[in-house]
Amino acid sequence: MNQQTLSMRLERVAAQVPAGARLADIGSDHGYLPVALLRRGVIDAAVAGEVAPTPFHAALRSVRDSGLEQRISVRLANGLAAIEPADGITAISLCGMGGETIRDILDRGQARLSGQERLILQPNGGEQPLRQWLMDHGYRIVAEEVLHENRFDYEIIVAEPTGPVSYSAEELYFGPLQLQARSPAFLLKWQRRLRQKHKTLAQFDRARQAVPEATRQEVARQARWIAELLA
Ligand code: SAM
Repeated sequence: MNQQTLSMRLERVAAQVPAGARLADIGSDHGYLPVALLRRGVIDAAVAGEVAPTPFHAALRSVRDSGLEQRISVRLANGLAAIEPADGITAISLCGMGGETIRDILDRGQARLSGQERLILQPNGGEQPLRQWLMDHGYRIVAEEVLHENRFDYEIIVAEPTGPVSYSAEELYFGPLQLQARSPAFLLKWQRRLRQKHKTLAQFDRARQAVPEATRQEVARQARWIAELLA
């Protein structure tokens, strides 16, 4: 992967960025996503935000090497603090972090949101609490995708602020659109998850120290949901 060739995961994220967008890529690391999108002429401008100095410098280097300093601002900042009102951001990507981390970044950064931005999120786990935050803050999920790359299942969740929206507990767990579409990648992911849940339950049974009943029941409930989904 480099500024021109993205991983399949980032290609699928890139496909959700609207043409002409002004993108804030938060947790940009090497900055490959905004650089590739600008080189392809998909977006007009970007902010690449990074909280850690090493990836911040990597992003600075990528932007400088591509000669895109006029169009991409690289900023050392925590979460949405990288965004300034004058940036006119219309889309925000938060990719390759835990779902809870993405949720916390959105929650802490609400004052930086104009209420118009499309959110393109690629959580590594923790999808359920992230969807819960989206629902609680009036974001409708407008696209979802599961993909398998390098032995990992990745999810992409795209959301737009539309006002009140209501999802069931199962929709928050599996994803409302994925639950309807039931793509092969989605079903394979949940087949693998069901095997893991059964292993976890067997480990709970063998554990020397008693596992709290509430924990066991939660895993058993999730295993039941998955089994029903796949039935
Ligand atoms: N977004 C890229 C991708 O999907 O390939 C890089 C993912 S990398 C695994 C996660 C990056 O998020 C790291 O570079 C980390 O420093 C950055 N990060 C984590 N928490 C952050 C925060 N609160 N604000 C900005 N960046 C953050």
